[in-house]
Amino acid sequence: MTEKINAIRGMNDILPDEAGLWEHFEDAVRDWLHAYGYRAIRTPILERTELFVRSIGAVTDIVEKEMYTFVDELNGESLTLRPEGTASCVRAAIEHNLLYAGPQRLWYWGPMFRHERPQKGRYRQFHQVGVEALGYAGPDIDAEHIVMCARLWRNLGVEGIALELNTLGGAEARTRYRARLVKYLERHHDALDADSKRRLHSNPLRVLDSKNPDMQGLIEGAPKLADDLDEDSLRHFEDLQGKLRAAGVAFELNPRLVRGLDYYNGAVYEWVTGRLGAQGTVCAGGRYDGLIAQIGGKPAPACGFAMGVERLLDLMKGGTASVPRRVPDVYLVHQGEAADRVAGTVAEHLRDREISVLLHCGGGSFKSQLKRADASGARFAVIVGDDEAQAGEVSVKPLRELAKQARVSLEEAVDLIKKDEMR
Ligand code: ATP
Ligand code: MG
Repeated sequence: MTEKINAIRGMNDILPDEAGLWEHFEDAVRDWLHAYGYRAIRTPILERTELFVRSIGAVTDIVEKEMYTFVDELNGESLTLRPEGTASCVRAAIEHNLLYAGPQRLWYWGPMFRHERPQKGRYRQFHQVGVEALGYAGPDIDAEHIVMCARLWRNLGVEGIALELNTLGGAEARTRYRARLVKYLERHHDALDADSKRRLHSNPLRVLDSKNPDMQGLIEGAPKLADDLDEDSLRHFEDLQGKLRAAGVAFELNPRLVRGLDYYNGAVYEWVTGRLGAQGTVCAGGRYDGLIAQIGGKPAPACGFAMGVERLLDLMKGGTASVPRRVPDVYLVHQGEAADRVAGTVAEHLRDREISVLLHCGGGSFKSQLKRADASGARFAVIVGDDEAQAGEVSVKPLRELAKQARVSLEEAVDLIKKDEMR
């Protein structure tokens, strides 16, 4: 036998049995975004590498080691499969002058690509839903983003997601803090791991983001950015906290929270859960006031967040929320020459009346077809034999309750099926 071909490691097939949960999630997300007035933007999955280097930052995990980058041999351009969505969203907004029409509330969703070590909750192709508010200075909009996340968790029926909050301050505050932090880290140079030594001068704040357990003591003892904060950032941050308290959203301040992408400043946050093991962050975001200018746009403040869809779905699977299974209204059983001729027409007629129909294909006895009908989850079998075909009628057999089969006209069949829907 010819050898089979498997999917790439860390890139998952979403099979039909699971796709129902994804669709349920996508429907809930669309309704939720609509309720807050966000509009969709769809950008290409492939971008110029330069876009991510300039936005995410050259000295970050993503750009240093996680990107799928290759050279387009036709013109020598370096291209990258998007590792996240904010950069593309901002690029498109600049390219198409969206901000000329005023600030924009946008959202996107789709696959992202990062060359990480695959494990539970960490894949090489994964999905994000992202929300970006471009041209808003906040903190009202920062609060809106957090409040809307809290609502989505409720809508999805997932519990146990906690909010961690921090502020990275303005550029000047960060420069002051950076100097203090470097001094501290230099004093403890011997205790730094290889990654941190490398970052000590290129990107010292990222040392705080290290997941290495051996580094945690050192990180705990590091100076805090809060002591260097400028007044504007402080006021913004306090205002935001007040708005969250007023909205009844609980949070915890985490001075170690720095985020793995360079473009953030000001308020940043993560939604975390203890129920997913090591991959506990389901959603992360914050303010990125410098990014639009950094990739060539007219300076404008902005903020946003992105959630990891696989991790949220894992939470939904482990939770109590029920996910409705999508089943057809009708499984259409047919046997006999005359019956086979009209079966397709009967199915189309039912679909004209907004009844979903799974038309049996491939022949077989009534008995075997009815077995399939039962397994399909359909509420009714509509049966066409030659008798029915000749009389211009059908038999309707309820599959989910003990009720008698009825031989009726097609119009009566529609009424029967629709009446059941109303109950
Ligand atoms: P982590 O610390 O888990 O690596 P991150 O800081 O790299 O996350 P972000 O870039 O902020 O993640 O992406 C936002 C969200 O996307 C994360 O909180 C997470 O839920 C999800 N996510 C990120 N990387 C992956 C991945 N490789 N597989 C699955 N989900 C991911
Ligand atoms: Mg990461």
